[in-house]
Amino acid sequence: MAGCIFCDIVDGKIPAKLIHEDHLAVAFHDISPKAPTHLLVIPRQHLSDLDEAKPEQELLLGHLLLVAKEVAAKSELRGGYRVVINRGADGGQSVDHLHVHVLGGRPLAWPPG
Ligand code: 5GP
Ligand code: ZN
Repeated sequence: MAGCIFCDIVDGKIPAKLIHEDHLAVAFHDISPKAPTHLLVIPRQHLSDLDEAKPEQELLLGHLLLVAKEVAAKSELRGGYRVVINRGADGGQSVDHLHVHVLGGRPLAWPPG
């Protein structure tokens, strides 16, 4: 989608440090990491947020989680990691292209702020 920074990353118009790419998803390092390892997994297809996902996209949503655990394994997050989807203003979403955060490399506090 025009004007979407994550679509621009998918299209290679904005550089990103990619860790995974396949026909459905792309994963890359967050530009402003909140933990020693902070990765984002996104669908190639533009979806503004989780609420936009339709029942017929359940395979895509499952795929994003499988990619999340693959990039966590690739990053050797043996102590564990956290997978987060922020949705909307109260959820802390700042980029309107669905993305799954993978955070690790240190103990993460719970609950989040
Ligand atoms: P949100 O706050 O929407 O859940 O997460 C958006 C994330 O995207 C933030 O953690 C932010 O640091 C990251 N981000 C924003 N712009 C860019 C960018 O241009 N490149 C990369 N790699 N990450 C970005
Ligand atoms: Zn997009």
